[in-house]
Amino acid sequence: MTTKQPPTALEKMGLNSPMALALHLPSRYEDETELFSIEDALSQGRFASVQTQGIVIRNQVLFRPRRQLLVTIEDDTAVLQLRFLNFYPSQQKQMAVGVHVRVRGDVREGFQGAEMVHPTVRAVTPDAPLPSSLTPVYPASAGISQTIIRKAVTQALREPSLKESLAEFLPTKLLAQLLPSHDWPNLQAAITYLHQPPADADTRALLERTHPAWRRVQFEELLAQQISLKRAHSIRRQRRAPSFAKTQSKTGSKIEDGLLKVLPFKLTGAQERVWAEIGGDLSNTFPMNRLLQGDVGSGKTVVAALAAARVMDHGYQAAVMAPTEILAEQHYLKMKEWFEPLGIKVAWLYGSLKAKEKRLAQEIIENGTAQLIIGTHALIQESVSFYKLGLAVIDEQHRFGVRQRLEIQQRVGSELFYCHQLMMSATPIPRTLAMTYYADLDVSVIDELPPGRKPIVTKVVKATRRDEVIGGLRDWLSKGLQAYWVCPLIEESEVLQLQTAVESFEQLTTALPDFKVGLVHGRLKSDEKAAVMAAFKANEIQLLVATTVIEVGVDVPNAALMVIEHAERFGYAQIHQLRGRVGRGSADSVCILMYAEPLSMAAKERLQTLRETSDGFVIAERDLSLRGPGELLGAKQSGDAMLRFVDLQRDAWLIELAQQVAERLLVDHADLVERHLERWLGSRTEFLKA
Ligand code: ADP
Ligand code: MG
Repeated sequence: MTTKQPPTALEKMGLNSPMALALHLPSRYEDETELFSIEDALSQGRFASVQTQGIVIRNQVLFRPRRQLLVTIEDDTAVLQLRFLNFYPSQQKQMAVGVHVRVRGDVREGFQGAEMVHPTVRAVTPDAPLPSSLTPVYPASAGISQTIIRKAVTQALREPSLKESLAEFLPTKLLAQLLPSHDWPNLQAAITYLHQPPADADTRALLERTHPAWRRVQFEELLAQQISLKRAHSIRRQRRAPSFAKTQSKTGSKIEDGLLKVLPFKLTGAQERVWAEIGGDLSNTFPMNRLLQGDVGSGKTVVAALAAARVMDHGYQAAVMAPTEILAEQHYLKMKEWFEPLGIKVAWLYGSLKAKEKRLAQEIIENGTAQLIIGTHALIQESVSFYKLGLAVIDEQHRFGVRQRLEIQQRVGSELFYCHQLMMSATPIPRTLAMTYYADLDVSVIDELPPGRKPIVTKVVKATRRDEVIGGLRDWLSKGLQAYWVCPLIEESEVLQLQTAVESFEQLTTALPDFKVGLVHGRLKSDEKAAVMAAFKANEIQLLVATTVIEVGVDVPNAALMVIEHAERFGYAQIHQLRGRVGRGSADSVCILMYAEPLSMAAKERLQTLRETSDGFVIAERDLSLRGPGELLGAKQSGDAMLRFVDLQRDAWLIELAQQVAERLLVDHADLVERHLERWLGSRTEFLKA
C-alpha cells in the first residue's frame, strides 16, 4: 500500500525536481572562504560579515535584561563575545566550554566589549578546511533553512539526469554566429558557477546579475519566452476564423458605408491607415490579434466601430468590452448614436444591471437580435452566449487583469472557430515589453490627433494657492467654458476618498455661486452617474467634481480645464489619462496639477515630467523604469510572469539576440525547440497567452 506523503517544504516552494532546484538560483552569497584571527575580525567585521574561530572559554545564560546566552571565545590574539537572544538548549550544549567553534557575523561594540549577535556557528577542528567556493544564499519561504536548500541543490547538481536536462543543444554554429563576442559558459557550467562560485569570483557582477554566467541563463530564459511567443503566433495562424472582406456588391457593405456617412468628421490619415490594417486582418481566415494603440483622444473608438460595421455587414455580431461601467456606457451611447439610425440593435450589459434587464439583454444576444453588444467584463463573466460572434473589441485592455484576459481568450475561442480580437490602449507599450510579453500582438498606432486639437498646457501649483486656482476657475467658467475638478486618490479608503470629494464639492459650490457644480463618484448607482454625466455633457453642469471614475474615455469637448488635487498621489498613467479628458475641443486646454508638500523625489520628478511632456510614449517609458513591468502588465502578474532572471530594463539588449536565435531555431531546429520549452516553462505556458 502506498500512502501519499504530504508535500515537503521544498515541494511547496515548487522545488520538486533536480531541474527546479538547479534553476533556483542564489540571490546573494556569503564569503566563508576566508578566515580571520579574532583580532583581525574585530577590525574587519565592522564593515561586513567576517569569519573567525576560537575555543569557548565561557558559556552562561543571563537573565538580565532578558534571558539570553552569552558565549566567549578566544584564540591567540583576542577574545570575542557571542550573544544569542533566542536559543535552543542544543545550541548551548554545542558551544560547551572547551569546544572549538568557527563563527561568522558582523562585529559590533556591546556592553561587554566587541561581540557578534546571532553569528552562525559550527563546531570544527581548528584545521578544518575552508570551502573553496562562496556560500549561496537562496530565496526561501519562511520555515525552510538555507542548509536544507543548499543540501538539496548540491544533491540535485550531482544527479545524472540533470546533466542531460542542462545539456547544450544550441547548435555550435549558431552560437558562434550569433554570440561571437560573448564569452559565455554553456548552460550547465553557468548554473554550476552560480550555485558555487569560486572564492575569487566577481561578486559584484554576480549580485548585479551581469556576470557572463548570469547572461547565459538570462539568454536561455528569454529564448524560451521568444520561442513560445512565436509558436503562439503560428498556432494562431493555423486557427480558423470567419473572413470578413469588404463586401463588393452595392448593398453588401451597407453598415460600413452608412457609418462613414453619418460620422460628423473625416477620418484622419492615421485612422485611415490603421483601419486598412485592421480591415486586412478581418479578411484573413485566421483570427486577428491586434492592438490598436493611440494616445488619449486620438480617435480609436470610431476605428473599432468601423471594424464592428464590417463584421455586422457579414451577418455576425460584434462585442465591445471596457473595464469600467462609465467607459462602457460611453461606448454604448456613442455606438447607439452612430448605429441605430442604420437599423442596428445595440445591446448593453454590465454587472449591476437589474436581473430582468440582464435577462432581456442576454436573450437578444443569444437569439441574434442584437448585432452589436457593449459591456463590461460582465460580458464574459455572466452566462452570456453569443449567437454568432465575429469580433471582440477590448478597450483599455491593460486594465483588465491577467486572469480576466485569460478568461477572455478562453471565451472568444473554441477549438473550431475563433473570433477576431481587437485590443485598444492609450498606454503605449514600451519597446521591451512589446518584444516580450506582447510579441504575439500585431500593433497599429494612431500617431496623429484629430485636427484642431491644441496642446494641453500643464501647470504645477502648490496647494497653498488653492484660492488663486479657484479664482482662475471662476474666470474660466465665466467665458462659458466647463471644467473638471478631480479629487485626490485615497487608496487606503474609499470612504475617505468620498468624504474629501464631498468636501471639495461643498467648498466649490459655495465659492462659485453663479455656476452649477456637479459631483460624480464611484458610490453612485449607474443611472445616477449617467444622469450627472449627461447633465455635464449638456452644459447644465459647468463644473464637475469627480473622483477618478472619470479616468478613462469621458468625452466633453467644451470642458478644457482640469484641476487635479493632490496630484502627487497619482501615478504617471493616471494623470496622463485624466489629462486626456481635456484638450478635445478647439479651446486652449489647461491642466492644473495641485500638490501638497512635502514632495518625495519620485513625485517631484513625476510632476516635472508631466509638465514638460504630454507624449504618451515618453511617459510610458518613465513609468516602466519606475515601477517595473509588473504593474503595466496588470495586477501582481510579475510574479507569475515567466521571466525570473531577466530584468527588462537592464537586459533589454539581450531580447533582440534571443529573438534572432528563436527565429533560427524554429526554422532549422524544430526538434530542439520542444526540449528547450520543456526545460524552462513546464506548466507555466498558459500564462503567456493572456
Ligand atoms: P480615444 O482614442 O481616446 O478613445 P475617442 O475615440 O474617444 O478617443 O475620440 C476622441 C474624440 O475625437 C471624440 O469626440 C471623437 O468623436 C473625436 N474624433 C475622432 N476621430 C475624429 C476625426 N477624424 N476628426 C475629428 N474628430 C474626431
Ligand atoms: Mg477611448
